[in-house]
Amino acid sequence: MKINILTADVYNQIAAGEVVDRPYSVVKELVENAVDAGATEISVESEGGGKALIRVRDNGSGIGRDDLKAAYLPHATSKLRRAEDLFGVTTLGFRGEALASIASVSDMNIVSSAAAGEVFSLACQYGKMGEIAPAAGAKGTEVTVKNLFENVPARLKFLKSDAQEEADIANMMARFILSRPHIAFTYLANGKIKYRSFGDGLAAALSAVYGAAILDDLYEIDADKHGIRLRGYIGNRNFSKPNRSYQSLFVNGRYVVNQTVSAAVTNAYASYLMKRQYPFYVLFLDVPPEIVDVNVHPTKADVRFADNQVIYGSVYSVLSGVLDGNSRALEYLAGHGAPAEESAPSASAPASAPAFAQSPMSYEEAKKELSFDIPPVTGKGTIVSNRPREPLTAYVHSPEPPKEDHFEENKRFLAEQEKKQQRVEVAGLVYKGELFRTYLFYESGDDAYIIDQHAAHERLIYDKLTARMQEKNVAQQPLLVPFVLRLNASEFLFLEKNFEILREIGFEIDEFGQNSVKVYAVPAILMDIDLSAFFAEVLSSMESLRAVRLADLVKDKLAMSACKAAVKGGETLTEQEAKALIEQMDGDMGLKCPHGRPVAVHLKKSEMEKLFKRIV
Ligand code: ADP
Ligand code: MG
Repeated sequence: MKINILTADVYNQIAAGEVVDRPYSVVKELVENAVDAGATEISVESEGGGKALIRVRDNGSGIGRDDLKAAYLPHATSKLRRAEDLFGVTTLGFRGEALASIASVSDMNIVSSAAAGEVFSLACQYGKMGEIAPAAGAKGTEVTVKNLFENVPARLKFLKSDAQEEADIANMMARFILSRPHIAFTYLANGKIKYRSFGDGLAAALSAVYGAAILDDLYEIDADKHGIRLRGYIGNRNFSKPNRSYQSLFVNGRYVVNQTVSAAVTNAYASYLMKRQYPFYVLFLDVPPEIVDVNVHPTKADVRFADNQVIYGSVYSVLSGVLDGNSRALEYLAGHGAPAEESAPSASAPASAPAFAQSPMSYEEAKKELSFDIPPVTGKGTIVSNRPREPLTAYVHSPEPPKEDHFEENKRFLAEQEKKQQRVEVAGLVYKGELFRTYLFYESGDDAYIIDQHAAHERLIYDKLTARMQEKNVAQQPLLVPFVLRLNASEFLFLEKNFEILREIGFEIDEFGQNSVKVYAVPAILMDIDLSAFFAEVLSSMESLRAVRLADLVKDKLAMSACKAAVKGGETLTEQEAKALIEQMDGDMGLKCPHGRPVAVHLKKSEMEKLFKRIV
C-alpha cells in the first residue's frame, strides 16, 4: 500500500466538511472574521437559505493587497503566531481554515480595503484562485459566497430545506446580535430585513431580537465570583420558554453550548420551573483565558474548563442567589454590586466595582470553597383547577372514522367485537344507589355494574368533543383580544408548517410579521384553553426527534377539558343524573376514560356469593 500526501484541494474539501457543513456555519465563520477585524457595522445577506448566496460586509480593518492570497490559504491566519498563543486567544478565529474551506466548496469573492483608496478583489472558484484586481468600495471587507456546495452534491443532498437553513442562519444572527451588543448588525434574507441592531448595548440588542417587552420578565445580573464574571439577563422565576432555543451562553465572547453551565442554570431554576419548561438566559461568562480551552471542537461550539466544579459553583450560586432572593442577591443584580455595562451607575449604588482582575477570591481559593457535588436536575409543580362541571347533557355518537387499511380494519373489527360483548341493555338496568359518593351501582339479572361517575362522564364529554372535531364542524370562538405569539425563526417555521392542521380544528391563526403569529379565534370547545400553555406544548416537541402529532396534542387538551368539565368523585348525583349517565353510555361497559382507566367494573352474583362463602 502506498501512502499519498493529499493535495491542498482534497485536504481543504475534507476540512470543509468539519468547519463548514451547512450554510449557517459559513455565515458564522464570515461574521466571526468581521468581528475579529474590529468592525462596528456588519451586514449579512442570504438568499435561498444561504445556498444561492451569502454576503457579509464589514467596516473592519480590511485585508491589504499583499495578504489577499494568503487569506485563502489553509492554516493562514493573522491571529496566531506560536503554539503558546493558543492559550490566550482572544479572537474568535485562530485556525486559519475557514476561508480556505469555504473557497474550496463555493464560488467566492473577497473585496477588501485596508487603507483609504486601496481596494482590491480576489475571487476563488471551487478552490481555483483568480487574479488580484483593483476594485471599488469603502474601508472594510465584503465576502460573497455563491452556489455553496455545488461541487459536492453529496453534501448538498444533506442540507435541509431553504426555509430551514435560513431559519438556522437567522437564529445564529440573533446570537451574534446578543453576543456583540456594541456592533450594529443588519440581517436580510431574500431581500427582507430579519434583524437589525444599532450597537447601543445589551438591553437594546435583547429588544431587537426578542421584542422590548421581554425586558419586563428578566433580571439583569452582573456578578464577580472567584475570578469569574457572570453577567447578562436571566428570566425571572415565573418566566419560562418551551424549549432550549432561548438560551445563549457566551464564554469569553464566544457562543457555546456547555454541559456544566447548563446543569448549573437548570438546577438553579429547578424549584421554579416544571417539566418541559426551560429557563431563558443570555449569559456572558468571562473567565481568565488560561482556564478555558476553546480548541476542543472544529467549529468551537463547546469549550473545556480547567475545573468544572468552580464554573458550576459560580454559576449556580449566583443564579440561585438571585432567584431565591437570598441575602447576596443584591450583590449579583446589575446596578448594585458591580455597575452593569449598560445602565448608568445609580447614585445610591456603592462605588466599589470589583473589577475582573482584582477579584476578592483567587481561583485556587475558590476551588477549595466549592467542593460540593453537582446535584441532579430536578423539577416539580402541579396544576390546580376549580372549573365548574358541565351539566349532564345528551351524548352524540362519534361517526365512523374513514377506512384506512386492512390492519386498521381488523383492529377495529376486534374492538367492535369486544365492545359488543361488553354492551348491556340499558333498559334492563336498575339504579341501586351509590357508594362513597363516587361509585354508582346498577343491577341487571345476575349481574351488577359499578361505575366511576367521574371517569364515565369524562369519557362522554371527550367523545362528544372529538366527534365534533372529526366532523370538522367546530364552532369558532373569536378572541376579544387576539393572541400574539412572538417566536424565533425555527419556532415560527415549525408552527407555520402546522397552520393548516390548526385551522382545520378551528383555530384562526395567521402570520403576523417578524416571526410572530396571531390567533384570532379558537375552537369553541377549547374556549378557555390557556393559549400560551398550549403553544408552549406545541413548541416543546419541536426539538424532540418525533415530530409533534398535533392531533394527539389536541386530543390531550380535549381530555383535559373533559376532565375539568366532568363531575368529580365526591359530588352527589341525583338518581336522575345517575340514570342519565348510564343511558348516555348506552350500556357500554367496556369504556375507558380518556386516561385509560376503566369506567365500569362488572360484578357477578356468583362472585358475591363466593365472597360470603355461600358457594366455594
Ligand atoms: P482565521 O479567522 O482562523 O484566522 P480565516 O480563514 O477565517 O482564519 O481567515 C484567514 C485570515 O484572513 C484571517 O486571519 C484574517 O487575517 C483575514 N480575514 C478574513 N476575513 C477578514 C475580514 N472580514 N476582515 C479582515 N481580515 C479578514
Ligand atoms: Mg476565521
